[in-house]
Parts: sequence; C-alpha cells; structure tokens
Amino acid sequence: MKSQQQHPRSFSFEFFPPKTPVGEEKLRATWQQLAQLSPRFFSVTYGAGGSTRERTLQTVLDIQSAGHAAAPHLSCIGSTRADVAATLALYQAKGVRHIVALRGDLPSGTASIGELHYANELVEFIREKTGDHFQIEVACYPEIHPQAKNAHDDLARFKAKIDAGANSAITQYFFNSDCYFSFIDDCARAGIEKPIVPGIMPIANFSQLARFSDACGAEIPRWLRLKMQAYGDDVESIRSYGLDVVTALCERLLSQGAPGLHFYTMNQAGLTSEIWKRLGL
Ligand code: FAD
Repeated sequence: MKSQQQHPRSFSFEFFPPKTPVGEEKLRATWQQLAQLSPRFFSVTYGAGGSTRERTLQTVLDIQSAGHAAAPHLSCIGSTRADVAATLALYQAKGVRHIVALRGDLPSGTASIGELHYANELVEFIREKTGDHFQIEVACYPEIHPQAKNAHDDLARFKAKIDAGANSAITQYFFNSDCYFSFIDDCARAGIEKPIVPGIMPIANFSQLARFSDACGAEIPRWLRLKMQAYGDDVESIRSYGLDVVTALCERLLSQGAPGLHFYTMNQAGLTSEIWKRLGL
C-alpha cells in the first residue's frame, strides 16, 4: 500500500442525472447537503451510448454554478470520434476541467459499437484532442472486470489507460478490503503509481444491491449476503447493519493508506453523510 500513501486524500460523491424535474429538485437538495462536507469533486454518470448527454451536462453545470467542482462521466462505446469530439468541445466551452473516462456498456440491440472500443482509446483520444485541459479519472476493478480475459490481462488493460494519460482511478465497489490491498500491490508491481481511490457503495436496499452486483461483477461476500437476507423486509435493520459494515470497510481502507473514498451515493445524502460522520472526516 506504500505506493498509495504518497497521494493527498480525495473524497468525491457520484450521482446519476435525474429524469424528471422532481428528481432534479431532489438531487439539488442532495448535493447542497453533501457540499457541506467539502468533497474534492462531484461526478455525474453518463448513460450508455450518450443517452443522458444533455442531462449529465446540465447536472454538472448546475453543481458548478454553485461554486463546486463537478466531473461528467463520458463513455465511448457506440459513439463515433466526431460524437466524442463534439462532447469534449462542449465540456471545454462550459469550463469543465475534470472527466471520468469510460468504455461503458452497449445497450442490448445497439447496432454499432462505434469507433472507440475501449477506455484506453478514449483517454488517448481526449489527450490528443484537448491536451492537458482535463484531469482524467478512469475505472478499475480490484475484483476483475466481468468481461476480462483474465486477471493479468485486466491489469494490463488498466495500465494502458494510465499510460494513455489518466491522472487517477476510481474502483468498482467491493466489500472485501483485502482484494483492494492486493490489487494495489499488483498495480505497484506493474508500475502503476497514480492514485487509486476505492469506490464505496452504501447499502440501502439489499435486493437492488444484489442485482447491481450480479450485473457489474462486484462480489457480496457470503457472510454479508446471508446476514442481509436474514433481515428479510426489515429495512431499518438492513440500513443499520449496512452502515456498520461499510463504515468499518472505509475505516480499514483509510487507516491502511487508501488515498480517499468515492461514494456511489445513488442520489441520496443520508447514508453517505452518516458514514462520513462516523468516520470523523
Ligand atoms: P475498459 O477499461 O475499456 O475495459 C472493459 C473490458 O475490456 C475489461 O474487461 C478489460 O479487461 C477489457 N479490455 C480493455 N482493453 C482491451 C483491449 N484493447 N482488448 C481486449 N480487451 C480489453 N458506465 C456507464 O455507462 N456510465 C457511467 O457513467 C459509468 N461510470 C462508472 C464509474 C466507475 C467509477 C466505474 C468503476 C464504472 C462505471 N461505469 C459506467 C461502468 C463501466 O462503463 C463498465 O464497467 C464497463 O463495462 C467498462 O468500462 P471501462 O471504462 O472500465 O472499460
């Protein structure tokens, strides 16, 4: 973990762009509340194939206009180089300086995979078009990306994104801190020294979490799954136990040198604020 301890800590909060005016109002209240914790930045996800392009930008601008740093996510799969260049130009024109660059996943039934097939190609393209304008974050997977050929290849693909010019990385969420520590050691051996900030998923709704985790390849350890299942519909107990588990995970990560935390807030301030308070940040 030594390679990560040299970096200043970065705390950030992720949202998805709301679909309705009511959702927008709710999200505004959420980021206003979370802004009091002074995160380094907020980030806003990008729907597959550019489906949320305008809403992602609008949410980022809304947050920026209140004086807070905000980073749009940008995925490349299914897009042409011209589409991506146009989005980058728009972000530049609006004063955006920070981007989370991803491959994304193709929506089923999409005919074309587009011109940039992997995130390292996107990072390369962003650097080629915009030089050092953007601070670029990329994704990485301590538990291995579900489509990876194998663990070694996945690590090499991650390194390719860093070598293409990414400044730092955010991990997929996980509940087993050892997998993060061992991933960091593998990264250091591979020569990756940029900050790798753990992605943290607060637990609000267990069946939803189980669905997400199956889809994105994040493992819910057996002990956690069985304990959560035993609570059945008892939402309060799930929330309370989830808070204990996720706070303990964050404590372990920070005390052993993780360079910050990135919270997948699901557009809710409550759980993230409570974990923050318990961590004494
Ligand atoms: P890549 O780094 O391109 O890797 C994808 C897979 O391809 C991996 O298995 C890798 O091993 C393999 N690979 C990479 N390069 C090559 C190559 N040259 N040849 C063969 N195989 C290769 N999705 C969204 O749609 N919108 C979002 O806003 C969004 N935000 C995210 C934020 C974070 C922090 C994380 C962790 C994920 C996010 N995702 C988002 C999900 C992400 O898009 C998916 O996990 C996607 O499947 C992979 O994206 P990537 O950028 O990691 O892809």
